[in-house]
Amino acid sequence: MDAVCSHRRKTREVIVGSVVVGGASPVSIQSMTTTDTHDAKKTLAQAQDLFSAGADIVRVTLPDKAALSAFSKIANEAAGPIVADIHFDASLALAALESPAAAIRINPGNIGDNDIVDAIFVAAKKSNKAVRIGVNAGSLEKDIAEEPNTSLSQKLAKSAKRFSCRAEALGFTNYVVSAKVHSVKETISANRELAKTLPEVPLHLGVTEAGDAIQGTVKNAVALSTLLREGIGDTLRISLTEDPCLEVEAARALLASLELRMLGPEFITCPTCGRTKVDLITLAKEARARFSRLKKPLSIALMGCAVNGPGEAKAADIGVAFGDGYAAIFQAGRIVERVRAEEALDALEKRIDAI
Ligand code: SF4
Repeated sequence: MDAVCSHRRKTREVIVGSVVVGGASPVSIQSMTTTDTHDAKKTLAQAQDLFSAGADIVRVTLPDKAALSAFSKIANEAAGPIVADIHFDASLALAALESPAAAIRINPGNIGDNDIVDAIFVAAKKSNKAVRIGVNAGSLEKDIAEEPNTSLSQKLAKSAKRFSCRAEALGFTNYVVSAKVHSVKETISANRELAKTLPEVPLHLGVTEAGDAIQGTVKNAVALSTLLREGIGDTLRISLTEDPCLEVEAARALLASLELRMLGPEFITCPTCGRTKVDLITLAKEARARFSRLKKPLSIALMGCAVNGPGEAKAADIGVAFGDGYAAIFQAGRIVERVRAEEALDALEKRIDAI
C-alpha cells in the first residue's frame, strides 16, 4: 500500500499479550488510563473505552502495592493487553510480572542498580511477558549524562543499548525500547539513533509531555510522521493533556494519513465559506461521534454546499453536500438521494450501514 512509507525497518516480533509488536505487524496504537488505578471499576471502564476507540495496548500505572489487586482485576477483565507502568519500585515490577499484565514499562534509569534490572529481565523471561525499556532524558545514568561531546540523542541511544545488552546477555529478547523527550527535534534524532544502534529492536514512538489537543497532536504528528516515513517505529502513543480517547483518535488519523493503517472512516470536511447555509461544524462533530468507531475503512465527506461539495469530494466513498434546507447524498461520485437537511445524517447512516 505504501507510497508514503516505503521501507519499514525489519525488527523482531515482541509479544504483548494478544498483540504482536514489530516484525511485519501493523504499527500498534497505545494509550494510557488517567484514572486512579486503586479504583478498578473506573479504570477498567476507561481502558475498555480506549480499546473500543481503537487502542491495541493500554498502559495502566501501578503506583503502589495497595493498587495491585485492582490492577490485576483490570488486566484480567480488559478487552486487550494491559501494560503496568512502573517507576522507582523494582518490587512492583516483579509483582506486576506475576500479575495478569501483558507487559511492564520500566525506566531502568530510576528502577535500581544493574542487579535489579537483571532480575526484572529474568522474571519477564520466566513469565513470558514483555518489557518496554523506556529511557528518558531526565534519568540517564550519571556517566552517560556527563559524557562530553555527545549529543542527547546519542546519550539516550547509549543508555538504551546498555540495557538492551544486559537483557540479551540473559537471553531475554521480548522487549521494545523507547526514548522519550518533549522536543520534536530530539525525538526524531533520538529514534534515528536508536534505529541505528538497535536495528532489530522494535521501537515505541512518542513525544512526551507534548501538550494539549492542538499542540500535542501537531508535535507528535511532525515527529512521528517523519520517523514512520523513514520506516522507523513499531508502536506509538500520542500523549495529550486530554481525554485519552483523543490520543487514540489522533493516532488512528496519523496512521491513516500515512496510509499505514486504516482503522475506520476518514472524514473529508470542507472548511465552510460564505456559501454554507447549515452549521457544518456541529454536523461534522455529530458525524464523527456517530461514525468514528466504525471498523469500515470508508471515506465520508461532509461538504458545506451542494455547488462545489460533490465535485470537490468526488473521491469519497460516500458523503453529503448541504444546500439551502436540503442535502444531497452522494456515493461513488454520484448523487443518489436528496433529503431535508435535518434528515441528512440519518440518511447517510442508513447507506453507510448498507455498505
Ligand atoms: S465546499 Fe462549498 S461551502 Fe465548502 S468551502 Fe467549498 S465552496 Fe465553500
